[in-house]
Amino acid sequence: PFDVLIVGGGPAGAAAAVYAARKGIRVGVAAERFGGQVNDTMAIENYISVLETDGPKFAAALEAQVRHYEVDIMNLQRADKLIPAAQPGGLVGVQLANGATLQARSVILSTGARWRNVNVPGEQEYKNKGVAYCPHCDGPLFKGKRVSVIGGGNSGVEAAIDLAGIVQHVTLIEFADQLKADAVLVSKLKSLPNVTIHVNAQTTEITGADGKVNGLKYKDRVSGVEHLVPLEGVFVQIGLVPNTEFLKGTVELSRFGEIVVDAKGHTNVEGVFAAGDCTTVPYKQIVIAAGEGAKAALSAFDHLIRQPVA
Ligand code: FAD
Repeated sequence: PFDVLIVGGGPAGAAAAVYAARKGIRVGVAAERFGGQVNDTMAIENYISVLETDGPKFAAALEAQVRHYEVDIMNLQRADKLIPAAQPGGLVGVQLANGATLQARSVILSTGARWRNVNVPGEQEYKNKGVAYCPHCDGPLFKGKRVSVIGGGNSGVEAAIDLAGIVQHVTLIEFADQLKADAVLVSKLKSLPNVTIHVNAQTTEITGADGKVNGLKYKDRVSGVEHLVPLEGVFVQIGLVPNTEFLKGTVELSRFGEIVVDAKGHTNVEGVFAAGDCTTVPYKQIVIAAGEGAKAALSAFDHLIRQPVA
């Protein structure tokens, strides 16, 4: 069995692997797609000590650092089920989609999350070419430009307030008849001079030309009239979904599906730890996921050295 088995190979899983492997114990990583979300990222400009890089380069560097140690990387392997230990200190099982079950003395879950798409024409075509999902990551790329935020919940309204300080103009598009964000955020948003809010507005298309976004079409759900907003960027803020469906019923999840962890990355299942975007830890960012992965690995090691001698 593995001493530490990591499920997920994004920044959290890679950091956990490096930290665990450096303890000289047996470490494995099972990942559906090693690298995780950074594979889909263009510019990364907020990973501390790295002025600028791009996603594929960052993912390759993650993998190279993990491979520098004796880590068993099982790429293209999806976990379908977690089997808690039968007794305290027993082995935890991770069942893979291919039918095999891996056994480990401790498991770190770092399966990440995915942004919910609006599924309108133009979204896929212009991803990273004007269509963005993370204001902390991509906001500064739109300095002085016009953008729209789709979604009027807390994340959408927070994003609009954040972006309004950077870009020239923000148009917030909400499908429902009112913004669902906290009242204090909504009044802050309404006080900003360079923000326009449309409620009852259904996004129908993200338009573009020459490989770049140039507008957003929405339908007024009351009048039925279609409008075109000329702009350079669209931030989709309709939810981040943790990749934790396979854990339902085994590990405690929040109402958003995030794995509930304490300050040391413990889940409610003995010997099972979690880190990164799949957890309740706030702010979904690479530097945070990496830090949490390191922390979970140290917690797993702490757990292992406390096991009675067999
Ligand atoms: P992820 O990167 O999501 O990795 C999850 C891993 O788990 C993957 O290997 C995945 O294949 C695997 N996995 C999932 N389910 C299973 C399963 N059942 N079994 C096995 N493996 C599984 N952050 C920044 O800090 N700066 C940026 O500039 C930035 N730009 C971004 C741009 C885009 C387009 C996106 C989508 C995100 C961006 N982010 C950025 C956010 C950042 O990518 C995430 O916060 C970070 O990748 C989270 O790391 P993670 O390891 O927790 O999860």
